[in-house]
Amino acid sequence: MKIERKVIDTDLLIIGGGTAGCMAAVEAKERYPQLKVTILEKAHIDRTGCLAGGMNAINAYLNKGETPESFTEYVKWDSCGLIREDLVKSMASLFEYSVKKVEKWGLPILSDDKGNYQPRGRWNIKINGESLKPILAKAARSAGAQVYNWIVTTNLLMDDDNRVVGAVGFSLRNNAFYVVRAKATIMATGGAARLYRPNNPGDAAYKTWYCPYNTGAGYAMGIRAGAEMTSFEMRYVALRTKDAIAPTGTIALGANAPQINSKGENFMATRYAHLGGDHAPTPFRTYGPLQEIKEGRGPVYLDTRGLSPEKASGLKAAYLDMYPSQVLYWAANNIDVSQQPVEVQATEPYIVGGHCQSGYWVDENRKTTLEGLYAAGDVSGGAPYKFVSGCWAEGVIAARAAGEYISHAKPVSISEEKITLEEERTYQFLHNSKHRYPISPVELEALMQKVMSQYAGGSETGFEMNEEMLLQARARINQLPEIAETLIAGDMHQLMKAHEVVDRIDVAAVLVEHLLYRKETRWPSYQTRIDYPEKDDANWLLFVNSRRDLKSGKIEMMTREARPPAAIPDSLGG
Ligand SMILES: Cc1cc2nc3c(=O)[nH]c(=O)nc-3n(C[C@H](O)[C@H](O)[C@H](O)COP(=O)(O)OP(=O)(O)OC[C@H]3O[C@@H](n4cnc5c(N)ncnc54)[C@H](O)[C@@H]3O)c2cc1C
Repeated sequence: MKIERKVIDTDLLIIGGGTAGCMAAVEAKERYPQLKVTILEKAHIDRTGCLAGGMNAINAYLNKGETPESFTEYVKWDSCGLIREDLVKSMASLFEYSVKKVEKWGLPILSDDKGNYQPRGRWNIKINGESLKPILAKAARSAGAQVYNWIVTTNLLMDDDNRVVGAVGFSLRNNAFYVVRAKATIMATGGAARLYRPNNPGDAAYKTWYCPYNTGAGYAMGIRAGAEMTSFEMRYVALRTKDAIAPTGTIALGANAPQINSKGENFMATRYAHLGGDHAPTPFRTYGPLQEIKEGRGPVYLDTRGLSPEKASGLKAAYLDMYPSQVLYWAANNIDVSQQPVEVQATEPYIVGGHCQSGYWVDENRKTTLEGLYAAGDVSGGAPYKFVSGCWAEGVIAARAAGEYISHAKPVSISEEKITLEEERTYQFLHNSKHRYPISPVELEALMQKVMSQYAGGSETGFEMNEEMLLQARARINQLPEIAETLIAGDMHQLMKAHEVVDRIDVAAVLVEHLLYRKETRWPSYQTRIDYPEKDDANWLLFVNSRRDLKSGKIEMMTREARPPAAIPDSLGG
């Protein structure tokens, strides 16, 4: 098959046209209008990533009386004492700036008669965000960013000084190999879903809470290039509605529904009162229900019984703004939520730097440890509780810093030899007839998910793990790259699937090392070491970081001190 090569020269490359990526593009074009800004997006920018189905709340906002400092304190408590305060504070200082911008672009934010946003709990505001993604996409295009849709980015381009000078990818729509040479690059590909067996089987496996097409490509590209990563062991295990896997905050916060077990007990308020009850840190609000089920008091529900007809219909309207399939599920199954409680379940673990803090180790400017590379949104580490607005804030910070870097960056130089190697790597699985017994992407994915689910704390072991299990996971995951060489893809869609599984194997290998390294239980349910059940602040109030050695391929582990909050530079204030 003839592959056409398309070479694009740009100043700033943004990989992933999602929440953070779109905001970064606008900020870059507004601050530095002379810059050429290019976005590579795997799907179509109008409906991609976490925002594809819409959104009904902005979960990180400073409601009346709150400050970046009070937000940072809250996030630190919610994350069991360990966060990068400098990152969380600098992001919070830009919530207002980002939210106001998106409102100006057309996002309806619910307000009272006096124009004050309607709070939903301490940090949330309500929105009618069904069209949030097209609004962001339009803003990025209108600002002048050049968007390339249907391009699966497969690797970063590194020059001889180990500086990131762009990326390569392939088109899902034609036989074109894209080479984008850039003075600076922002990674904004979101987190990683489908590392573990999803809740639903077969074709329904794509009914995951986290966007199923965010498969950790951004992490994997960084790992392969030798970037330092942090906190992969803080996995996100989400409490979601049964079968539909919809977010539960809409019910818990929007309708004030408590969690109950099969005996009708409000167990968080009683059995887990010592942990904070209904207001315990987020991991404990998943741990509580998991314990109830484990000890035979499941299923677990959110008690919506007795909701007034107005409240019940308000709940459906809220889901239509974000997760319409939940409303369809209730309709199809003839469920009236004011008559019966809504069953909830834990999802398989995701790696995500927005709800948790797994991702690139960055400085305050969201610069990674690789020169020329910045990270924003769920792919970036150390700053949990980002949600939509934190991803926007990080997009703004990264764009400002990348623009500044570009003003004095050296010209880009990359050898033809390196580009050819990347082209070969990208298409290696297409009609891969070298092997007598090739494996399909679906088969390899099943192998990987089986190992992760059974040995690395998946739902099959109640999300718990010990040293022996993790050593098994390590041995088995480390066999998969060799098997991956026999992957076969018959078309571009299959080729994407092949790269998605290769990326997730690289992420899974790092994740297992992180889970092995942290010998305590800091975030029960996210990271439960049954052989080290206690939180151990004396030894483990530290970040667990990793870096793949480029020569040996070995994953090196290290710890880093949590950093104190720095003064926020004026340039970040808005
Ligand atoms: C179902 C759901 C509900 C949520 N509800 C809320 C809520 O109510 N309020 C709130 O504040 N937050 C909510 N969140 C969290 C919030 O949506 C995310 O934290 C945020 O949108 C992540 O932004 P991001 O830019 O990091 O990733 P995304 O917005 O997902 O963008 C990543 C982009 O990268 C692209 N990409 C991936 N791989 C590649 C590749 N190889 N090449 C090129 N492009 C690639 C993807 O297609 C995607 O467009 C929710 C998340 C989910 C999943």
